[in-house]
Parts: sequence; structure tokens; C-alpha cells
Amino acid sequence: MAPEATPTSSPPLTDQHGRRISYLRLSITDRCNFRCVYCMAENMQFMPRDELLSVDEMVTVAASFVHLGVRKIRLTGGEPLAHPAIVSLVAELSALPGLDELAMTTNGSQLSQLAPALKVNGLSRLNISLDSLQPDRFKALTRTGRLRDVLDGIQAAKAAGFQRIKLNSVILRGRNDDEVVDLVRFARQHELDIAFIEEMPLGVIDEHDRAATFMPSADILARVNETYPLTASIENSGGPARYHRMADSTTRVGVISPHSHNFCGSCNRVRLTASGQLMLCLGNEDAVDLRTILRAHPGQQEPIRQAITEAMTRKPERHHFRLDAPPQIIRFMNATGG
Ligand code: SAM
Ligand code: SF4
Repeated sequence: MAPEATPTSSPPLTDQHGRRISYLRLSITDRCNFRCVYCMAENMQFMPRDELLSVDEMVTVAASFVHLGVRKIRLTGGEPLAHPAIVSLVAELSALPGLDELAMTTNGSQLSQLAPALKVNGLSRLNISLDSLQPDRFKALTRTGRLRDVLDGIQAAKAAGFQRIKLNSVILRGRNDDEVVDLVRFARQHELDIAFIEEMPLGVIDEHDRAATFMPSADILARVNETYPLTASIENSGGPARYHRMADSTTRVGVISPHSHNFCGSCNRVRLTASGQLMLCLGNEDAVDLRTILRAHPGQQEPIRQAITEAMTRKPERHHFRLDAPPQIIRFMNATGG
């Protein structure tokens, strides 16, 4: 029986820098059917299953956050659609009273099968990762992925009724930077938004040199602008993306620039890893172990709420990503959730 989230009566969750925390990114698994070159090592070691939170544990934590004023939860991973109980988890979370939005970031490869069930069970928004429109290159970047599956998944998500789907594209110089205009054209044709992401130095990889493939957002925008004139928009999606509009399309072109444009001042989010570690900042190793508390007090929200509230005093002011030094963050993105 899932715990209930009672609408908040406590003061809003605020960190010691005065930032209101209203957004939780919940990594529900570290597993994935892809091995994207910037995200994972080729021979990934995943965590033992008993170290991952159960569905009931995830619901208890989510309900505790919602009680404390979190209004948006994004499911991520690893690949959230690789979780065997994804549909029932979506149903339980979307039913939490007080939650305004339940979103998901996915590689899209299983949306053909799952999009209708996710929609019916209350998932409100989808971000779909797509780094290339060329089948061979897509395969090289994801190591195991098939472009066709993702393209079919995007169509299935639209057919299921998802609105304002956003594509996420990580751009690496020399690998897929020549596709930024093609990706924007694709987004325009299919009435999708698109955000280009600068690669972050999470985890030690040897597939490429991150400093050499670094592609600043400004270069991406300049390229798009040559074909599709862009106007900077003041709209804020509540996240780190800075958006641009085109006069002849509803598509928004965003950039997420952890290196070239620090966005920590407006950070409204925290992350929970698949093993129940509450990460206060993507660019910082500090974490609070909620799994131990969950397992000491099964199904009880009060100890979790207390730990979350206390953790707010530890949220750092900003990240300090550097490409000219060995990674300071040794965990991979799939462990934290992007
Ligand atoms: N598997 C899902 C997916 O790919 O959308 C969700 C998890 S994935 C970790 C979330 C996002 O993080 C994806 O858009 C992915 O491209 C991005 N990502 C992964 N590793 C990254 C890195 N080192 N730097 C920047 N973005 C990264
Ligand atoms: Fe999997 Fe997403 Fe990481 Fe790619 S970016 S390996 S799809 S978790």
C-alpha cells in the first residue's frame, strides 16, 4: 500500500542560499539498454539489485518531498523505461496529491510499446534524447541503440497525446556537431522543442577526450542561427535551459551550458539516485543516505522528511566543472540521473 502525500503544511523547502526547492529528479534505475559514449563505460558495472530502492521506497521518498512542497518530479536513470514496474510506478506517483507535474527523460527506444500506458497512467511530460539522425552515427554514439526505435518512439509518444515533447541532444565537436541544423529541422518538422547540452565531466571515460570534443553552446546557436534566425526568449521552463524562438515555428531551441553559462543561482532541484542517495548538486559528491533511513523505518515518511529538511543546509552554492583537469566527479551520469 503506497503512502499518501498530504499537501504541504510545512514551510517550503529552502536551502541555505535562499533557493526554493520545488523539483526532484528521481533516478529509478542505473540500468540502461544503451551505452552512450559520454554517459557510460562500455563494460559498465551496475549496482547490485538489493542496493537499488524498491518501488515502495521510491514512493515513500517522493511522497515526503511532495509533502515538503516539491511540485515537479522527473523520472530518469539509467533508462527509466528499463524498470520492469515503470507503468505502476508512474501510476502511483502521478496520484500523489499536490504534485503538479510528473515528467520523464528517456532514450525513447521503448516508447513504441509504452507511450500509451504512460500517458493513461498520468505521466505529463516527456524529454527524449536524440543525438544523431544518421543510423550509423547513432549506433556509434549509443553503442547499442537503433535510431529507428527512437524515431518510432517519438511518433508513438505524439500519437499517445504527449504535448511539447522536448528532444535532448548532447553535442560533441567532431562527432555530431555537423548535425545541429538537421536536428533543429527535425524538431521543427515534428513540432518538438529541442535542447542542446554541453557534455559534463561525470565519470571517467576513455572513449574520447572531453576537452577536445567540447562544443560551447554559443557555437551551436551561431550555427543554427545561420539557417534559422533565432531570438533569445525570456521564457523560463524552470530549468537550466536558455531558450530561443524562431519567427516561423513553434519549436523552441534551448541550450544547457553547465560550462559556459553557470545556472546554479536559480537552481530549484535536488536529485535522488537509484540507490537512495540524495544529491544536493549534480556537480558535487556530497550526498545524504536516505536508503538507510528508509530501511530502518519502512513506509514512514516522518524520518525521511526530517532528513530532507536537514539536507537543505548542505546544498552547495554552485558546481565547479572543469575540463582541464581529471574529473572531480567519478560517478557516471546514469548513477545520478541526468
Ligand atoms: N536514459 C535516459 C536518456 O538518455 O534520456 C535518461 C538518463 S540520461 C543520464 C539523461 C540525460 O543526460 C540524457 O539526455 C543524456 O544525453 C544526458 N547525459 C548523459 N551523460 C551526460 C554527460 N556526461 N554530459 C551531459 N549530458 C549527459
Ligand atoms: Fe543510457 Fe541515457 Fe546514459 Fe544513454 S544517456 S547510456 S540512454 S542513461
